[in-house]
Amino acid sequence: DRLKEVLAGGVAQSPALARAERKIYSEERLRRAIADGELVNHYQPKVDLASGAVAGFETLVRWRHPEDGLIFPDQFIPLAEESSLINDLTRSVLRAALCHARKWRDDGFPLQVAVNVSMDNLVSLDFPDFVECALDEAGIPASGLLLEVTESRLMKNRLAPLEVLARLRLKRIGLSIDDFGTGHSSLAQLRDIPFSELKVDRGFVHGAWRNASLRAIVEASLRMARQLGMKTVAEGVEDREDWDFLRNSGCELAQGWFISKALPPEQIPDWLAAWEV
Ligand code: C2E
Ligand code: CA
Ligand code: CA
Ligand code: CA
Repeated sequence: DRLKEVLAGGVAQSPALARAERKIYSEERLRRAIADGELVNHYQPKVDLASGAVAGFETLVRWRHPEDGLIFPDQFIPLAEESSLINDLTRSVLRAALCHARKWRDDGFPLQVAVNVSMDNLVSLDFPDFVECALDEAGIPASGLLLEVTESRLMKNRLAPLEVLARLRLKRIGLSIDDFGTGHSSLAQLRDIPFSELKVDRGFVHGAWRNASLRAIVEASLRMARQLGMKTVAEGVEDREDWDFLRNSGCELAQGWFISKALPPEQIPDWLAAWEV
């Protein structure tokens, strides 16, 4: 009945309830949001576990909806992936991320920026050239950008992405296999695609220190990534125990609420100034 009240809009909503309530947005509305700049990039730090140094930021897009408030990506990325909108969305997120990375560099922080791309982006054969132009425009070297690749549920075409990923890698752009261990994000992809980073999914990371199965999965993933010459990252580091376990497992980078939530760009300079382990 609490749910009914909330659905009727009669109650001040807690963030959890607001997130549970799913509003269906139309393709047309999302297209307008992209064109009107209603999508905003937030950034979550990735930190070196051994030294505590900030290595970079992951871009997490939010929709600043004029009536509905801040909408999280799980409520509109699937819609974008089902239509061709994902192309416009990714390109606009990427351009904005490189702009912010430019600012950090100008402030004396040459940090890598990571952008999520879905496999559906990687069927456009001109995507590598688009990325290269965007890097040139922002004056950022290829090594300053990392693309975190996640599987979409649809995957219309399985071969084109392999070629696009190979071309991106040849341009020395970093490629991360995101959510490693879930869905199709797994061994066959490691065989076929020249990833430079492996990101262990948060479903395995948080609480692994007190769960033997999770611990085995995380440790095996990290060992394999190292043997393949990849950088290792764990997401979903929520507390001190998670941090200590990963550090002792030799994982290189950590990301998660223990370090910081994703922050709006205007808060990044203060966060960088205040950060210490
Ligand atoms: P992801 O790439 O796996 O991103 C990590 C998600 O985990 C983010 O959710 C982040 O806010 C959340 N998170 C961060 N630290 C913690 C933690 O310590 N504990 C827990 N439980 N969660 C944590 P968010 O921002 O809601 O994004 C959800 C997904 O939406 C992302 O998952 C990514 O797949 C997708 N996404 C976000 N931005 C973009 C984008 O620009 N393009 C595309 N294609 N997908 C995006
Ligand atoms: Ca990601
Ligand atoms: Ca992930
Ligand atoms: Ca994910």
